Amino acid sequence: MDARTYIERHRGEFVAALKDWLSIPSVSADPLRAGDVRRSAEWLVAHLTEAGFPTAEVWETAGAPAVFAEWPAEDPAAPSVLVYGHHDVQPADLADGWHTDPFVPVEQGDRLVGRGASDDKGQVLFHALGLRALLAASGAAAPPVTVKLLVEGEEESGSPHFPDLLRRNRDRLACDAVVVSDTTMWAADTPSMCVGMRGMTDCQVDVYGPATDLHSGSFGGAVPNPARGLADLLSGLHGADGRVAVPGFYDGVAEVTPQEREMIARLPFDEAAWLRTAGSTAASGEAGYSTLERVWVRPTAEINGMWSGHTGAGSKTIVPRSAHAKVSFRLVPGQDPLHVQERFRAYVADRLPAGLRVEVEFAGPGVRACASDISSIVGGPPSAADPGGPFGGGAAVRAARAAMQRAFGTEVLFTREGGSGPEADLADILAAPLVFLAVGLNDDRIHAPNEKVEIPLLLKGAESAAHLWTELAAHAAGARS
Ligand SMILES: [Zn+2]
Repeated sequence: MDARTYIERHRGEFVAALKDWLSIPSVSADPLRAGDVRRSAEWLVAHLTEAGFPTAEVWETAGAPAVFAEWPAEDPAAPSVLVYGHHDVQPADLADGWHTDPFVPVEQGDRLVGRGASDDKGQVLFHALGLRALLAASGAAAPPVTVKLLVEGEEESGSPHFPDLLRRNRDRLACDAVVVSDTTMWAADTPSMCVGMRGMTDCQVDVYGPATDLHSGSFGGAVPNPARGLADLLSGLHGADGRVAVPGFYDGVAEVTPQEREMIARLPFDEAAWLRTAGSTAASGEAGYSTLERVWVRPTAEINGMWSGHTGAGSKTIVPRSAHAKVSFRLVPGQDPLHVQERFRAYVADRLPAGLRVEVEFAGPGVRACASDISSIVGGPPSAADPGGPFGGGAAVRAARAAMQRAFGTEVLFTREGGSGPEADLADILAAPLVFLAVGLNDDRIHAPNEKVEIPLLLKGAESAAHLWTELAAHAAGARS
């Protein structure tokens, strides 16, 4: 029996299991749901054990538990691959606008509606089905590469304990590639693979002037005004061409190659519909780049909020004593968040007039961007972060793309995502190349009311996963010979 037939025959069982899992409200952000997050981890361990994983266990963290599972390859010299996903979900409440109880999953035709259906339980679960299908099709007792699964329980809460979990278990997690199944495809009829995610760093800027608010008749025009100082600082963040004008901001930025730009341009992007979703009447940004390029492959500076002086009813003619803003930067591969922080501080210090004092407080070290090495497909320099190994040099992406193309029967294009989770930590701490294999859709309403998943796409995900292990083994063998 081939993998596709096996998967189709087990559709009912798969959907029933997923519904069972989705009915556990594993909301990591809600302390009252801690027991449910644990129950969700235990459910997954039982499911993976039943699927045949020789190892499946709950891993404790200082927060919510994760799940680890491993199915060793028959050949002890075969490479290892780690699948990453998460079993916690975003909060959901009927009152938010759900048409049905978010934790009573319902099938509506080919759709399954429920919190976590797409993000991320459905996409974790298809891996177990895919591996079963591969073994049924090949008749082997074990996969051709060692398959490990790490499914965390705090992704929707910012993965606060995830880097520590990775470091503590580095030996057992050791792998030659990381497969992330927590992203989306372009559209049901346009299968695609995410190949990069932007990083981020954010801060608050506080500008202080006079010791108290001053009468603008007595002092206005004769002492520096913090609100004006802040406005000048913020207005200078961008040049007329939309580029970020902070000196050194673009240091290290990996430029996107003409081939990747061409692949992005081939995606059927409806800018008018995108603007309607945004509720905006115009697109704007860095000159020389398309809208998709602006949100995927270019770094940005964004003013997230600002406040100062009198904002209540009526007027109050003052020189305010202080002014404040929240500023964030989206970063692309090659940019170091700490360098960006240092460059922004220098920009602020240079720009502020005498008589004003400024404090810039960053929320933390920031998150680096991450990317798959696609240089062997779209040209450009190989990934600077490529750790080599059997899937270095872009072999992981070529294998995963081949697996998806077999399942979908059509060319798989590349996309990126504008934001990210803990993927950069996975790649850095485990020193393995990243590849994204996922079948969620942008209209799955993840994090929103009425989240759903397309069941036929989850089955395609399972089929892609079934092919993935053989493709990876084949690509690794190619690399060794
Ligand atoms: Zn997710």
